[in-house]
Amino acid sequence: MEIIVNGKRDYDYFTMMRDIEKLLAYFPFIKVTFIGKSVLGLDIPEIRIGEGEKRVHYNGSFHGNEWITTAFLMSCLNEYLLALKCQTPIGDADPLCLYEETTLSIVPMVNPDGVNLVLNGPPAHKKWRAEVIELNNGSLDFSGWKANIRGVDLNDQFPANWEGERARNPLTPGPRDYGGNRPLSEPETIAMAELTRKRNFSRVLAFHTQGEEMYWGFDGLEPPESEPIVQEFSRVSGYKPVRIIESYAGYKDWFIQEWRRPGFTIELGCGSNPLPISQFDKIYQEALGIFWAGLYM
Ligand SMILES: [Zn+2]
Repeated sequence: MEIIVNGKRDYDYFTMMRDIEKLLAYFPFIKVTFIGKSVLGLDIPEIRIGEGEKRVHYNGSFHGNEWITTAFLMSCLNEYLLALKCQTPIGDADPLCLYEETTLSIVPMVNPDGVNLVLNGPPAHKKWRAEVIELNNGSLDFSGWKANIRGVDLNDQFPANWEGERARNPLTPGPRDYGGNRPLSEPETIAMAELTRKRNFSRVLAFHTQGEEMYWGFDGLEPPESEPIVQEFSRVSGYKPVRIIESYAGYKDWFIQEWRRPGFTIELGCGSNPLPISQFDKIYQEALGIFWAGLYM
């Protein structure tokens, strides 16, 4: 059985969609739905695998220049599907047991417009092109771009001390860190909030780059079971657990606050964003264990 997803390349929205089509053809037991549209009208896919009570959610590319997280998640997904089809064990775990015990939801690219901007340059549409270049201070180098196409940082958009995050960040749209004029003002964050409410996730992992660290607390609201889970993530990856950081209004912050269930931000790799694709193999090797541990823990 061949590997379908090649994550070791510039991984834009269209590459992801072609890979999802192929995975659907090989593995018809996965379910693909769209959770909403980006500002530029791209459908944001969610992929689901499994039939279990434990509802696990992973997402990637909240930030445009962290698109390697999508390549990572799609490659891990391919590995899980192959293990299921060929019934090859995953470490000590039986893939069929994971399938029966968990329902895994993956939104591999929360911010498709931002990813395409970083990888392919500004959109052809005249109005958007002019606007986004202006927000980028006239530069055509979008490598520092984290936000959505309107210059709103999607991971500063959630109603979990949104005002506190706003106080330490820019007050106008730009490449990064602007949280919008109110929480959940953007179609991408609205889609994620609606999905999260609808699915009633048991735990969430938001994949970002970089730092080889994992944030697992929020304002003391995280439940006791978060700690053993993050310790296992650390054991398998070598990444460092960090309970408290001065950052609010992120997706995992909101999840912990609203549900008092385990939520994690996983910072893959090391260097400055966008991480070069040459880091892909190292990241995959380090963090594949986190992908499994999120299911079996
Ligand atoms: Zn990020």
